Amino acid sequence: MMTPTVACRACGGAQLVPVVSLGTMALANALVPQDLPKSDEPAFPLELVFCPDCTLVQLTVSVSPELLFRDYVYFSSYSDTVVRSAREIARRVMQRQALAGGSLAVEVASNDGYLLQHYKEAGVPVLGIEPAQNIAKVAEERGIPTLRDFFGRDLAATLAKRGQSADVLHANNVLAHVPDLNGFVAGISLVLKEKGLAVIEVPYVKDMIDGCAFDTIYHEHLCYFSLTALDRLMDRYGLVIEEVESIPAQGGSLRLFVRRKAGYGQGPSVIGLLADEATWGVGDLQFYRNFASKMEAVRQTLPALLKTLKGQGRIVAGYGAAAKGAVLLNYCRIGPEVLDYVVDRNPHKQGLAMPGVRIPVVSPDRLVEQPPDDLLILPWNIAEEVMAQQAAYRDRGGRFVIPIPVPRVV
Ligand SMILES: [Zn+2]
Repeated sequence: MMTPTVACRACGGAQLVPVVSLGTMALANALVPQDLPKSDEPAFPLELVFCPDCTLVQLTVSVSPELLFRDYVYFSSYSDTVVRSAREIARRVMQRQALAGGSLAVEVASNDGYLLQHYKEAGVPVLGIEPAQNIAKVAEERGIPTLRDFFGRDLAATLAKRGQSADVLHANNVLAHVPDLNGFVAGISLVLKEKGLAVIEVPYVKDMIDGCAFDTIYHEHLCYFSLTALDRLMDRYGLVIEEVESIPAQGGSLRLFVRRKAGYGQGPSVIGLLADEATWGVGDLQFYRNFASKMEAVRQTLPALLKTLKGQGRIVAGYGAAAKGAVLLNYCRIGPEVLDYVVDRNPHKQGLAMPGVRIPVVSPDRLVEQPPDDLLILPWNIAEEVMAQQAAYRDRGGRFVIPIPVPRVV
């Protein structure tokens, strides 16, 4: 069910240095039945290590994709922000690459076709690659040809042989999930046309650290990328990052425009950010060790704050039963003795329990019918939005607890 990592996922370096351990943790996305015996709930080490050879930060184990993604039901088109951003980038790329009826736009982890639909509408042939059967089916139904497979060296070679090389290849929020990082990047190199463009979006490790967003560390996310680490990775496969931009996706991501080294070079945005990263120390172990200290501070102060509230006879509940919340609660060891329940709008989650800590998940109706005194906002990055939605709760005197970067009551 799990493979330990003995060498760097990117460069093969063998001197991986521990940065921080979040302990042995249940799978953050897998809500469990309340009465599931603890021994039946799989849990794996969640530890970050740093590769001094190529600067990549990564996990020490890979949990098998079959186990991680068995209940994968995320549809990209459910998020307006994702669809809007997809339309915008598709238009830009079509213009930049002068795509037409003889071109091919490929997306790896194409989900329900939320992005490729914009190419298709403009008359550009498309090909999606998506291993999740149920999601690929939805894409096919809207007319997006979709290969139900994992992308890597072999699939890329097959596509190239069939004459299905890409004028543009999108890979959004997938690189960090890939156990065979080298096979994936080698695949991009194999399938990209001579003047092709790969557009790759990855969560940015610098944004995670600046925001103290350690709750984005979970088993699905194998790698935590800086531009410095990405630059070295691409370079080994004859690829170059021509341009980079910061985007708000996933709490702060980088969008890379990647080309073949033959014919292209690093543009000013890449040269500039690489220099900034060198100044910030993003390539140094100490940078990540400082982050570990900030995490530890939250682990001390948040449970203490909640216990104080509880000690005053207040009822404390949580909001949002997502992976981030599961990581936060497990790392800080906050269980049902402190947090009575977690509310979530998704009816499929109600009646189950948060993984590991086993706090029951209930409907948000509870906030109105039997309001708690304090509500811990687990998706703290959208705290403003949650507080606006829960105005009725606040009007009745309910308070909110925002856990990160410094736990506080509002
Ligand atoms: Zn390395």
